[in-house]
Amino acid sequence: MKIFKAFLEKFNKLKIFVDDFTQFRPYNFQIQNGNSQLSIKNYSIVENDIMLTLTEEVNIKNSCFLNYEYLSEKVWFFPLFSTEEFDDKFYHDLTLGAIYNKNYTIFRIWSPAASNINLLLYDTAESSDSENLRRFVMKENNGLWSILIKEDLQGSYYNYEVNVYNDISEIVDPYVKAVGINGLRGAIIDIGKTNPEGWEHDRSPELKNYTDAIIYETSIRDISTHPHSGVKHKGKFLALTEENTLSNNKIPTCLNHIKELGVTHIQFMPIFDFSYTSVDEKNPYSYNWGYDPQNYNVPEGSYSTNPYDPSYRIFELKKMIFYIHKNNLSINMDVVYNHVADAISSSFKKVFPGYYFRFLDNTNLSNGSGCGNDTASEHSMMRKFIVDSVMYWAKEYHIDGFRFDLMGLHDIDTMNSIRKKLDELKRPIMLYGEGWDLNTPLARNIKAIDSNSKKLSPIGFFNDKIRDCVKGSVFDIEDKGFATGKFFMENILKKSISSYFLLPSQSINYVSCHDNYTLWDKIDLSCKYESFDDKKRIVKLCASIILASQGIPFIYSGEEFCRTKNGDHNSYNKPDNINWLDWDRKSDFMDVFYYYQKLIHIRKNHPAFRMIKIEDIEKNLTFVENTPNNTVAFTIKNNANGDTWKDILVLLNANKENITLTIPEGPWNIALDSNSDVNNEIVLGPTIVMNKISSCILFKL
Ligand code: CA
Repeated sequence: MKIFKAFLEKFNKLKIFVDDFTQFRPYNFQIQNGNSQLSIKNYSIVENDIMLTLTEEVNIKNSCFLNYEYLSEKVWFFPLFSTEEFDDKFYHDLTLGAIYNKNYTIFRIWSPAASNINLLLYDTAESSDSENLRRFVMKENNGLWSILIKEDLQGSYYNYEVNVYNDISEIVDPYVKAVGINGLRGAIIDIGKTNPEGWEHDRSPELKNYTDAIIYETSIRDISTHPHSGVKHKGKFLALTEENTLSNNKIPTCLNHIKELGVTHIQFMPIFDFSYTSVDEKNPYSYNWGYDPQNYNVPEGSYSTNPYDPSYRIFELKKMIFYIHKNNLSINMDVVYNHVADAISSSFKKVFPGYYFRFLDNTNLSNGSGCGNDTASEHSMMRKFIVDSVMYWAKEYHIDGFRFDLMGLHDIDTMNSIRKKLDELKRPIMLYGEGWDLNTPLARNIKAIDSNSKKLSPIGFFNDKIRDCVKGSVFDIEDKGFATGKFFMENILKKSISSYFLLPSQSINYVSCHDNYTLWDKIDLSCKYESFDDKKRIVKLCASIILASQGIPFIYSGEEFCRTKNGDHNSYNKPDNINWLDWDRKSDFMDVFYYYQKLIHIRKNHPAFRMIKIEDIEKNLTFVENTPNNTVAFTIKNNANGDTWKDILVLLNANKENITLTIPEGPWNIALDSNSDVNNEIVLGPTIVMNKISSCILFKL
């Protein structure tokens, strides 16, 4: 008989996969747990697997082996970590990390697997021959290790020395809030002293309903590094504190540009501390988006003007947030709890192997993230870590929204716990993410994926259906969508315009984001034979659809002036000159920029585009029947959602020729015509001639 795998299902129950259970003889088995030999009380055969019940419990501080004849098989503990039994014994709800006070600091770290943990105190952020190291033995209470040091430790650095399964390693506290250069040691600071002047008066802009938000995705580096950005602190948090910046052509840039555009929320790509192997904080020459988390609760050092001072990056990020809020914009942050930069060197792995990551039955780490280490949000202490981290950013940094990278790798309970805790803060904090269904060992019905959106309310999902139906699949360069001339897309587009979800606020409507080709590049590649002018028309048509649809519109920065990455579809580690916003290009595409601006203005002034209940959409939004191929027309009636306009008519023509549309009886006033700057024209009906690749918003008072 061959043992394939052995798992610990309960503290005293083992499940064994074997090739032939008929040959199983319990007296030939030995179970070695550290120095102890455990005895088998009884066994049963369940399907082809053998369940062993032991006379005593396995001590998880020691590794466990199943010896049979000449074979020895490791017993894997990870199934135990999902059980109530495990949580009853080891779950802790206390605040973890270093809790600083002037007269003492309490340190707490969790690991039921560790046989001992020492606190290491240093006086420097980096190791050196002359460093002063002090070592303190911590005490354990059911997996929770703690120590109180009666000193003012402000200015000191710390790490933990953990001994797990006789493996001794030094780790950075997963809960660390401040770090030295490159995030290799924790720093003990008085967080109260990191506040910029006026921080106590910092207030987020008002947001009545989530559907009032218009999200603008950018990165600290992309928005400011171009030589003509007019920004002094290029690539730094402080770039977004510079007001009234202009390009060489005297056109607003950076924060000034975002204000001019009129969006409500800036979504920043990772601003938490990402791996120093991607961007060295000492010499941040290389570029990286930062989807490789190193210290979750610390701002990224390369975005600070002084990453050597642990307080400074915190101060500068807060200062940026303060200025953005002062300019009536909100801040959403991109969070990446689904994997870590490197599982092997991560504190999670070293402090408690097997607990924080998800394993497949073959005992390989699960790889739904594509990074080879999906975190196990379904484990209570990992869930607690995520919830604590989000709450920390919301409270300490006044963050207004969280965009979850690969949210579909998390479980429903985790996302709903976050929603519930954020709601307790009594301010409208956005929560949304990528609800893709990825290959991770979590039952489909508990994954935070878009098909489970009814169980995740009100949490938003990136709407890939509208993205792909408007401009074509992201997985096929040449594929087209409604706006680029693909036939028979009308019905799927209609479904997107009126929202798929239980709540409109669950639909994040977009045509481009940091992933894949920029909108301009996608159009360029899929419509090789279109003229330059027609490509611009397509961009405008895409914008009209996204901004006139029910849900929450999302714009990738630069989309509004036809951003290009020169055909690069995955620029995560490409140089600045691929990723930056080229402010000279804005001058070249002012017509497109102004069109986005007008659409945003209309959306912000007309709540009919921002309905909050599906019933209202069903009642007020009607598609015009029997319109020609490749056109969609709809009305929003009855002063919907308190709108000053009684009726609204939206017309979309994706045809490459002019089309005559029959419209509901006029007179209609033209609010915005993608072909013309003339406003306030009257259309009497019953027909209207639409120019090729164009859109029109009309209204009746
Ligand atoms: Ca870093």
